[in-house]
Amino acid sequence: MPAPLLNERDLSFMLYELFDSESLTQRTRYQDHDRQTFEQVINTTKAVAEKFFLPIRQKLDLVEPKFDGKNVHLSIELKAAFQAVIDSGFASATADFDLDGMQLPPIVASVAGAYLSAAGGTGLGYTTLTTANANLLQAHASEQLVERWVKPMRSGRFSGTMAMTEPGCGSGLADLTTVAIKASDGSYRVSGNKIFISGGDHDLTENIVHLVLARLKGAPKGIKGISLFVVPKYLVNEDGSIGDDNEVALAGLFHKMGGRAHTSTALSFGEKNGSEAYLVGEENQGLKYMFHMMNEARIMVGTSAAVTALAGFQYSLDYAKERPQGRLPSCKDPLSPMVNIIEHADVKRMLLAQKAYAEGAHALVLYGSQLSDDETTAPSQQEREHAHILLDFLTPIIKTWPSEYGPKANDLAIQVLGGHGYINEHPVEMFYRDNRLNPIHEGTTCIQSLDLLTRKVPMNNLAGYFATLAEIEKTIVIATSHNDLSQYVEALESSLVLLKKTTSHMLSAMQTQNIDMVLANSVKYIELFGNIVVAWLWLKQGIVASKALTKKPHIDDERFYLGKLQAVKYFYSFELPQIYHWSTILMSLDTSCYDMQAEWF
Ligand SMILES: Cc1cc2nc3c(=O)[nH]c(=O)nc-3n(C[C@H](O)[C@H](O)[C@H](O)COP(=O)(O)OP(=O)(O)OC[C@H]3O[C@@H](n4cnc5c(N)ncnc54)[C@H](O)[C@@H]3O)c2cc1C
Repeated sequence: MPAPLLNERDLSFMLYELFDSESLTQRTRYQDHDRQTFEQVINTTKAVAEKFFLPIRQKLDLVEPKFDGKNVHLSIELKAAFQAVIDSGFASATADFDLDGMQLPPIVASVAGAYLSAAGGTGLGYTTLTTANANLLQAHASEQLVERWVKPMRSGRFSGTMAMTEPGCGSGLADLTTVAIKASDGSYRVSGNKIFISGGDHDLTENIVHLVLARLKGAPKGIKGISLFVVPKYLVNEDGSIGDDNEVALAGLFHKMGGRAHTSTALSFGEKNGSEAYLVGEENQGLKYMFHMMNEARIMVGTSAAVTALAGFQYSLDYAKERPQGRLPSCKDPLSPMVNIIEHADVKRMLLAQKAYAEGAHALVLYGSQLSDDETTAPSQQEREHAHILLDFLTPIIKTWPSEYGPKANDLAIQVLGGHGYINEHPVEMFYRDNRLNPIHEGTTCIQSLDLLTRKVPMNNLAGYFATLAEIEKTIVIATSHNDLSQYVEALESSLVLLKKTTSHMLSAMQTQNIDMVLANSVKYIELFGNIVVAWLWLKQGIVASKALTKKPHIDDERFYLGKLQAVKYFYSFELPQIYHWSTILMSLDTSCYDMQAEWF
């Protein structure tokens, strides 16, 4: 039997035991669903992943999309896989019934999508970006634009992109130079160059809907002068058929370290007369609208990082159970049989670390998915507002922690396989390459850390920060009734004391000292906060496991829960204590990096 893609028992634990997703069916929006319909969608998606994506996973990695001078061609098998995703309904899993969606809770769609992501890697990106593009338009564009562009994207006729980055402007969008001019017919003409645009050209769909950030002539400088436009690859006629070419030219295809199924393009807009463009919402409000997509994309990035880590963990675990090599230090008899490498304590360390990172990261992104749902479907206005505050605050951590720890997990998966992990007969090196993008795109780790410290913490009198602390404190209260968890309760309480002390110190230093110097170690702050949030989610998992074990479960379940508790122990022994070191660097406003001079390197 082939090794499983992901641990089904763990996915079910996350969905039904940790996050109690079945209770969502009591909400009006999900009243037509029950656990059975959730399982049907998950099983269908898993079947699509195994049938269409898994067999071509390696080919997608080895054979890059081709440009023949006119068009970009993807493999026939990827087209079939893309179509299978559309046919399964997964592409509009969370959309309203009215829009031919399945109206599924995002957390359930996320678990179903994990199979596609594990089997298809970034080949799935065409679908997820299109969904995020359509969601943005639905939230902020006119009915006319929704009718024209969103419907064909939901049905799979068109696909969508997010076109922000330019050759001279990546992390700092304030400096973007793409220009828009208003035309006499009320539409606009856009011209400029964008790079790294994922899914920017391909032959999967009839048309590509680019969401382009551009600056209107005479608009204020900086981020206040940025507007958002729909710029299609081809214009569309009144009857919905494809019309003229819209001057969106492919200037180049990038060759990437990983994620090779998803084209990465340089696009040139409107070289002759300007590409016809349609304004989304109001002028100069573009970045605000784009944040709708970016926030969703940040959870998607965290999710992809977590799932790629889970896939590598699962693969290396199965390998370690079957690879005989060496003997334990206590065995002096060279004639005795070799042990499987999973018996070596250091291999167990690498597997436990992967489990702690991957399942910790997955709990974090599913929590984010649930908050994004609660924001709009929680029963009371107060709960909806609370979820909004938490999600807004936690988004940099939900994006960053999995993105940093996912590749670390994949790195360990390679190490578990030894030399076999370094060659492409096994997918673990590909997982690492695919995952390495995640700390870079959608705002690098440093940009997320600056966002957390300078915007998200102080925002609304520290509302998000306090709401997060309160959630952690609630779990601590529940955990105190579990004697087997007492050492973790104490450790988490102490980390909160440390977090509060470090945060107050940073906020006051930001007011009184050289801000460049104070923010020089901001990445250590997001690491510290992230480790505490993940320690909290591990304690939550520990509570569920500890409770379940008192009910004398079946032996398989007993082993599963004991494994969860061992991962809690690992996280609190090996990972959480690092925050003390990071806090020391932050509290002392260490200037090792800040004082370094470019000329000294
Ligand atoms: C495969 C791939 C897919 C992508 N997909 C898309 C897409 O679909 N759409 C899109 O618009 N973009 C996309 N991007 C672009 C991506 O979001 C940018 O690469 C990213 O935002 C970083 O910008 P940059 O590459 O210009 O790096 P830079 O901004 O030049 O950053 C380089 C380094 O400097 C650091 N740095 C930059 N500014 C600061 C600062 N103020 N303070 C401290 N450190 C700083 C960064 O953290 C980083 O380590 C993609 C990129 C890749 C590689």
